[in-house]
Formats: sequence, structure tokens, C-alpha cells
Amino acid sequence: MASIIEESAAFIMDSGPFIDVIPIILNYLDLKSLIHLAETCYFWKERIYTDVQLWPKVIELPYVGCMDNYVGEHNVLEDVIEAKLWSMVQPSDDPQALDKVLEKMASSKQSIKRFALVKKVLFKNFIHTDESLRLTALLFPSIEEISFEGNLLSIVGVRNIAISCGKLRYIEFYQCGNLDIESACHLFNTEEHKQNLERIFIYNRFRSKYAITFPTEDDLPFMEFCQRCGLYYNQLKNEKEKLCLYHPGIYSGYGHSCSSYDCCGSSTPRYPSTLGCQYIYHEKCSNKSLSTQRHFYELHDGHPEYMFQKYTDVKFPFRFTERRRLDKCYEKWNTKEHQQEE
Ligand SMILES: [Zn+2]
Ligand SMILES: [Zn+2]
Repeated sequence: MASIIEESAAFIMDSGPFIDVIPIILNYLDLKSLIHLAETCYFWKERIYTDVQLWPKVIELPYVGCMDNYVGEHNVLEDVIEAKLWSMVQPSDDPQALDKVLEKMASSKQSIKRFALVKKVLFKNFIHTDESLRLTALLFPSIEEISFEGNLLSIVGVRNIAISCGKLRYIEFYQCGNLDIESACHLFNTEEHKQNLERIFIYNRFRSKYAITFPTEDDLPFMEFCQRCGLYYNQLKNEKEKLCLYHPGIYSGYGHSCSSYDCCGSSTPRYPSTLGCQYIYHEKCSNKSLSTQRHFYELHDGHPEYMFQKYTDVKFPFRFTERRRLDKCYEKWNTKEHQQEE
């Protein structure tokens, strides 16, 4: 009986003058009001959840409390959170925390549909697993950036992203000990990724137990290694856009307090991760073995939130920063798992 009433109500509301008025009303509502309205009846739920244009293009996941106060010896946790330096805040005690958040978002067909146009998801201090990557691929097929970080994910999760998220512009592999980087990069060798990819950042330095191999021409023929900034860049885009961030000047000092670049005076956040101050075209690398050594000492030891923005655009709040150390989390997660087993 209830469904008949709802259906007839839907018929009346979606006809005549209402058809023109509804989009105008909906455009005035903020996210919270939209959700409240969607909860009132079947008609509004259907109307709002299927209209992907109504939903925000940037999704911010909730912040879950950190495990301890290790955010670099010079920094205060509250300041780090305020500055949104999520890569410095350790993930939740529960390694599956992100799976659970995304599972809720993917709880119904309607719920999944509404994120179809989301361009950016702020995962904050969550860490990806294969399951969270599967759900990310399902919920957010239009995202433009993804960071693969740590040892909880494998090639299975990366494959889900590579297949579903064809609009990716930025990819990061940060200390992915379980990944064969060559095979992972090979997954992005498709026509769609060729059109959209701008940069791939690969980093595995910190106490690396794993020998890292970088992608070759066979893996990603349209990407090249830049000898200036150490990123993999899309050759097709390089002729059109200046995307290489660097310092034209000379660095003097050894990383202590009076060291800086003479072009802009940048000494923040710290050597070697100081932000570049100018964009230029990427420069194709002539000798890869030399440059892979070199690029670790250039721009990229910092935070994805900041490190690809110009020095002048970012008022970096910290002088010394270190990205989080997941090895500490692994220890904690493993002990917890053992305790649960006992
Ligand atoms: Zn500079
Ligand atoms: Zn470059």
C-alpha cells in the first residue's frame, strides 16, 4: 500500500510545473539539506541520488584519531592536523579503518552512483588496502589522483584502480614494499591513461629492504623520467604544459638553518624537500642510472599536499617535516593481530 502512495506522489511531483522548478530548488540546497530532503520520501531520494551533478566534486573523509604523537620530533600534533599534513599523521589503530568507511558509502546502489563525478578524495591519514582500493575504484571512477602507500596493498588493488579510474592525472607509489613497480606501472599502459596521466612519483628510500626497479619504456611507453625533478612525466603533455617544478638558483648550505636557494630564498620545509619556485618543461633523462640516484636529493621527500605547489603559493607552516613512518604502524598492527589470535 505504501509503495502505491509513494509512486503516485512521485508521478504528481515529477510532472507539470514541478519539472522546471525542481532543479532550481535543488541547486540552492547544501549537502546536508540535500541528504535530509532525500530522506523524506522515495521520490526525492531517487531524484537526488541519481542527479550526480548535485554532489560535491571533492569528498573529504573523516579524520580518525592517530595512534601516537610521532609526527616528527620538531612538530606538535595539533599543528600538523591544522595544516592538513595528513601524511605526517599515523593511520588508525585498525588497518582496515578505510575499508569500513568506504563500505558504508557503498552500502546501496544509489549511494554508489552519487560519487560518479567526484574528482578528488581527501583520504587524510587513512591507509589503503586492496579492499579499500576496490571500493575506491567502485565509488570514485572519476578521481584524478591516487596515492599508493605502504605494504597493505598489492597489485590486485592497483589493478582495480587502473581499470576503473581512467581520468587519473597523478599517481604516487610511496614505499610500496609488496609491489613490483614495473608490473604496477604496466597496468596504466592504456589509451585512456595516456590521454590523462601527468606524473608518477615513485619513492622507496626509507630503510628500503626491497630493491626497487623503475618502469621501463615497455611498461609505460608514453612516460619518461625527468632528470631535473625525478618524476615520470607524460611526453605528450610536456610540449604543451610546464609541469616541472624546480629552483633555477643554487643551493648553498648543508641543510642547516642558514641553508637556502639563492633564487627565492626557500629553505622550507627543509633540505632536500624544499618546494620549487618555478615551473618549466620536464627534461628527458639521458642516463637513467645516474638520475635515479640523484632525484632522491631533490624536491620529493615531503608531503603530496604541498610538494607539487610553488614555493611562493604555499606558506609552508613547518620548517622541519618528515613523512610518516609506516614501519612503526606495521609493528603495532602485527602485535595487535597476535594478541587477537591468542
Ligand atoms: Zn627557488
Ligand atoms: Zn621535471
